[in-house]
Amino acid sequence: MASLYIETFGCQMNEADSQYIADRAASAGYLIAAKPEEANVVVLNTCTVRDNAERRAYGRMNHLKLLKDADPAVRLVVMGCLAEQDRDRMRSLAPHVDAIFGTKELAQLGDQLAAWEPGFSESVDFADDRALLAHLGGTADAVVDAFSHLRAFVNVQRGCSYYCTFCIVPHVRGRFDHRPLDAILGDVDAKIASGAREVMLVGQTVNAWNDPATGADFGDLCRAVARTAGLERLTFISPHPKDFTQKVIADLAGVASLNPRMHLPMQSASDPVLRRMNRKYTAAQFEEKVQLVRRYLPHWAITTDIIVGFPGETDEDFERTLEYVRSGVFTNAFTFVYSIRRGTPAAHWEQVSHEVATARFARLVDAQNAVTRAYHDAKIGTVVRALVAGPSKKDAGKLAARALDNVTVIGAMPDDYEERLYAREPWLDVAIERAYVWGCTGTIVRRAAAFSDPGVDVRRPLVSLL
Ligand code: SF4
Repeated sequence: MASLYIETFGCQMNEADSQYIADRAASAGYLIAAKPEEANVVVLNTCTVRDNAERRAYGRMNHLKLLKDADPAVRLVVMGCLAEQDRDRMRSLAPHVDAIFGTKELAQLGDQLAAWEPGFSESVDFADDRALLAHLGGTADAVVDAFSHLRAFVNVQRGCSYYCTFCIVPHVRGRFDHRPLDAILGDVDAKIASGAREVMLVGQTVNAWNDPATGADFGDLCRAVARTAGLERLTFISPHPKDFTQKVIADLAGVASLNPRMHLPMQSASDPVLRRMNRKYTAAQFEEKVQLVRRYLPHWAITTDIIVGFPGETDEDFERTLEYVRSGVFTNAFTFVYSIRRGTPAAHWEQVSHEVATARFARLVDAQNAVTRAYHDAKIGTVVRALVAGPSKKDAGKLAARALDNVTVIGAMPDDYEERLYAREPWLDVAIERAYVWGCTGTIVRRAAAFSDPGVDVRRPLVSLL
């Protein structure tokens, strides 16, 4: 039987695209492999949002050449934003790549996989030389483990029309293309039928969504999706602060199945920086959105993205951002040192020195870590319901899960742990005992088949009695 391995870099948009390709491959008759050396087709879904992501993708392409050298029958495919942006350069830098599909060519990649499948099914085994390969490593979290289907991504739009001056997305994914409501609801139904417990609506600017036929907005979309039979939890990423109207936020407050976490990318709290970034809001307007969330969704956690060392950022600009973060608005933040993206306006502007940017970054991370740690500390002594994610990557003797506010919680592996049982009864109640910056640890006390079920006691590991 033909098999496909897919490795995903970058954002949830790419994870959603990888899920789509895995679904297309599975319906064309492929097995989804957990390792590249077990696959006939290896797909790298690439990202170009930061220089580091680009270098990692090229590094991985070169690494996977070992597989092609050992078995020339294997097909190496590159998709995603880097494929869209760098198609010609990629052909000369990585000539061993068999096929390149841009972000608008997902359907064609699905067709190509279907066309290749009979050839792989008819061929006998993998070339013997593969057996000599050391494990090629890699991550395929989005599509292969026993729990990944519990969290499903559903795309609501492609592209973005906002042209932030640091961002490559509009250049590689094009302008907004909103999917019709019916198509989205059809995908949600299909994901629930395949076992999804949590649906994440995904878009580069997800709350700018408008139904092309009726003009229904993002609030209407969430309300419609929440009515889908069998849906347990709903979440979304990433909204743009500018697109949250009072009406949309009030709509969200009426959807009980929404996870209580709002990821609201701020990028900077300084007006001159926000203007140069073309973010389309001022710091005061961002704060107004935060207040709207506080008013209508008082129990929600707010997380954010922040870029440090954007071209022209002065000490004063940075101090404003630092002060805002210190005020404790965000329960967590993804912080980045600005990285030049070829093809964007900010790439041509005078850059902040690396030393200055990294020193600011360290101060910002310290400030946010203190806030995040305090948020996690407040969970100690409570019992948190979380969706299982699988054995911890760092310690297979522990089980990891994700709480509704996206906080990672980990507990000792229950004695009755069995992959299929925990995939069927995936809601865990975890009594939180310790808190860290990355999340919390505790004891897994119950598991439940449905989010609203009280659950049954799990068999505690003996170690917890010691
Ligand atoms: S809103 Fe800005 S940062 Fe987000 S995808 Fe669009 S251009 Fe990029």
